[in-house]
Amino acid sequence: MLHWGYEEDNGPSRWKEIFPIANGDRQSPIDIQTQQTKYDPALRPLYPNYDPTSAKVILNNGHSTSVEFDDTENKSVLRGGPLTGSYRLRQVHFHWGPSDDLGSEHAVDGTKFAGELHVVHWNADKYSTFVEAARQPDGLAVLAVFLKLGECNSQLKTITDHLDTIKVKGKQRRFTNFDPSCLLPHSLDYWTYLGSLTVPPLLESVIWIVLREPINVCSEQLAKFRNLLCTGEGEAAFCLLKNFRPPQPLRGREVRRN
Ligand SMILES: [Zn+2]
Repeated sequence: MLHWGYEEDNGPSRWKEIFPIANGDRQSPIDIQTQQTKYDPALRPLYPNYDPTSAKVILNNGHSTSVEFDDTENKSVLRGGPLTGSYRLRQVHFHWGPSDDLGSEHAVDGTKFAGELHVVHWNADKYSTFVEAARQPDGLAVLAVFLKLGECNSQLKTITDHLDTIKVKGKQRRFTNFDPSCLLPHSLDYWTYLGSLTVPPLLESVIWIVLREPINVCSEQLAKFRNLLCTGEGEAAFCLLKNFRPPQPLRGREVRRN
C-alpha cells in the first residue's frame, strides 16, 4: 500500500497496516445508538462565531474537497458545547458515497446519510499550532453535520459551483467571504463523544460534536462531489466516488447529548 485512499487495495480496512492506531480505543466514526446516549444537563449550547473574511481557498486534496481558513489568530472560533475555551476554525470538508443512500461517516441507529460535513477546529488556547494540537487528547473539535437527500441546498451551492474548477487533485482556487455557519441546521442540538480523525494518521485527538438535525443536499449536488478526481494532472483519471470510513467499535465510550 503506497498511498492511502478509499479503494479496495488502499481503503479503510488496510489503513491499520501503516497506522496501527486504526485499532485504538477511541476511533471514529461511530454508529450512534440514540437509546444508549446519555442526557447531560451540564452540556452547554454551541456558539459558533465565524468571520467570513478568514476563508482563504477551496481545494481538492485527492481525498476530499476543503475550504481552508486563516487560523493565525482567533478570527473564527467555536465555543460552548462540551468545549473548554475557544477552538479556532481551521477548515471545512466533506464526505460522500458512491450512491445517494450512503456517504456519511457517522451513522444514527444504523442508518447512514447521503453525506457529512466536517468543520474542523483546534485548541489554540492550549497549543501553538494545529499539528501540535492534533496530537493531544483535547486538541481538536470537529463539528459534524449530516447531509440528507432532499431539495438542493442554496448555501451548499457556493461550494458545489466551484468544484468544476478544482476537479484535479492538487488544484486550489481563492475562496473568501464564506461563513460556514450558513451550512448549519436550524437546531444546534448535538451528540458528543471522544474520538479520532477519520483519515490517516487517525490521531485520537478529536472532541466530536455531531449535530442531530441534518441539512439538505440534492442528487445533482452529490454528483458534483463524485465528479472530483482522486488523481493529479497527467495521471490516468479516477473519480473520487466515495471517501467515508465505516463506523468503528465504541469500546465502552459514552455518547452524551444536550
Ligand atoms: Zn472528515
